Amino acid sequence: MAKKQFKAESKRLMDLMINSIYTHKEIFLREIISNASDAIDKLAYLSLTDDTVKAKRADLRITVAPDKDARTLTVSDNGVGMSGDELEQNLGTIARSGSLQFKADMGADEKSAADIIGQFGVGFYSAFMVADEVTVVTRRHGEETAHRWQSAGADGYTVAECEKDEPGTDVIMHIKPDTEDENYSEYLETGRLQSLIKKYSDYIRHPIRMEVEDYRQKEKPEDAGDDYKPEWETVVEEKTINSMVPLWQRPRSKVEQEEYDRFYQEKFGDWQAPLATVTTSSEGTVTFKALLFVPSATPYDFYTREYEKGLQLYSSGVLIMDKCADLLPDCFRFVKGVVDSPDFSLNISREMLQHDRQLKIIATALEKKIKNELVKLMKDDREKYEKFWSAFGRQLKYSVVDNYGSKKELLQDLLLFTTSKESKLASLAEYVERMAEGQEFIYYVCADSAAQAARLPQVERIADKGWEILYLTEEVDEFVMQALAEVSGKKLKSVSDPDALPETDEEKAEQEKQAEESKSVLDFVKETLGERIKEARVSKILKTAPVCMTADGPMSLEMEKYFAKMEGASSSPMGAMKAERVLELNPASAPFAALKAALDADDRDRAAKYVEVLYHQALLIAGLPIDDPAAYTELVCSLMN
Ligand code: ADP
Repeated sequence: MAKKQFKAESKRLMDLMINSIYTHKEIFLREIISNASDAIDKLAYLSLTDDTVKAKRADLRITVAPDKDARTLTVSDNGVGMSGDELEQNLGTIARSGSLQFKADMGADEKSAADIIGQFGVGFYSAFMVADEVTVVTRRHGEETAHRWQSAGADGYTVAECEKDEPGTDVIMHIKPDTEDENYSEYLETGRLQSLIKKYSDYIRHPIRMEVEDYRQKEKPEDAGDDYKPEWETVVEEKTINSMVPLWQRPRSKVEQEEYDRFYQEKFGDWQAPLATVTTSSEGTVTFKALLFVPSATPYDFYTREYEKGLQLYSSGVLIMDKCADLLPDCFRFVKGVVDSPDFSLNISREMLQHDRQLKIIATALEKKIKNELVKLMKDDREKYEKFWSAFGRQLKYSVVDNYGSKKELLQDLLLFTTSKESKLASLAEYVERMAEGQEFIYYVCADSAAQAARLPQVERIADKGWEILYLTEEVDEFVMQALAEVSGKKLKSVSDPDALPETDEEKAEQEKQAEESKSVLDFVKETLGERIKEARVSKILKTAPVCMTADGPMSLEMEKYFAKMEGASSSPMGAMKAERVLELNPASAPFAALKAALDADDRDRAAKYVEVLYHQALLIAGLPIDDPAAYTELVCSLMN
């Protein structure tokens, strides 16, 4: 029989398949099975208008049959089949959508091309990754003659007429001999095939049948005596391997939460049930169904480089990508789940997906949906939401700061903070809701703990007014405040900000008078401390405490601490970033009076010691390091003499 040549691009593709070094050769089965499923769909479609097909609908199925002796794996379907011409057209040329893109990618080196194959499959030809010869026996529905297509590789194929009892197609793959690196024989093992079907083709709409061995207890004979011991036997039985109807295709009202939980746990390997289950779907410009889960706990690798975000992407029940990152915004990278859209072709490449408009529309819809569900959870089940918050709150905060705050609007409603008011966490909306009359700002203070925050000197004036203060205890918090800048028209303000409290004209005049009177003291303080501070000033934010340290300019003391820590960790050559420190003094306090008295008595030595003590107290209370603790201790002790 004369061999026919493949069209040029098919030949190259075949070459690639045969020599494929791609490690996920296993996807060939998914490709062959989904072709079979498509063929059955086509027949089922015919049945709408063709009565002769109707009766067969219930019998439509795909059969997978390994034969170890013959070393073949056969995938059969009783779908629409192919005529002789169709065989030539379909299996002799690559003319399908996904493959066209592939052709463009193929120019470069073959290794990268092989990767593309591996990840997205290229349909029928992928059989040549595991088979050294492929035979297709097919009979078109409505025709009597069947055809046999056969090829052992890139040098061509033959087509001949043959006999076949039923319409449909058998794809018979002669599995390659094992090599040192590759165990091809595994594709003849029922167990392995079963798990591959489960993994890639579980939601194919038609039954995938295979003979499997079952080890089970023999029936107890009727005449068995009391000393009967159960006997076991191995039975071979044809079974449907796939579960067919995907959970996400079923209406939520028809699915028990337990089913969702089990699905999540099995699929995403979590021993705990999910904290929240989210379903959503859309029809129209884009059609998709999504089933999403929020895990109950932070995955152990969540904050490491190893963690990969993404959702499983299916096209009509066939898995096309295991972790499609583009479907999920970074802020919700903890979400797991499945998206199924018939709008994607099986062979779509990762590059194409990235620029896919549909995918972007879906991603945007999911982002909104996830946010709304979380807001709802916060309202309806606060306890659960707080559990979520303790697992993933940090992620949300970092996401507010990321990308110049591009997601802050989306995320600000989801944030929770400890505050001066209640022992439980509060959202910004709740804070704004209970803001007092005359309170203009949302106040915050940074500290290592809430208890510490409550005792900071600069908190006193605002707390005394009965105004609520957010206690920020995580490093990222202050960056969050800067990114947000304002919420519901209310500015976020540090309690250390000189403008933190509104001032009357009288108060302003009083301040100025005090500053005037204290000028000589302040000058002396600055002179004594030199470059260690930018300025010494009369504080507007202290009430009874004598001293505190604040910062001028965009860099706060908390940020300075943060950068110092980062530098310590990375030993970067960059000099430590320093805030512009301002030492704030309270002229109404006793230590200030003592300092002034020492200066008035011209005891500059003692006055300088007081300044040092006040400066160090300010450092201590701000949680900043002291350069020379020994010297400071000596100084304090010397004052006790
Ligand atoms: P794709 O599935 O992307 O179209 P393939 O290379 O897998 O590309 O298949 C090429 C064509 O061969 C299919 O479009 C289909 O028309 C035909 N084909 C493949 N397998 C079968 C089958 N089992 N039954 C009927 N037609 C098939």
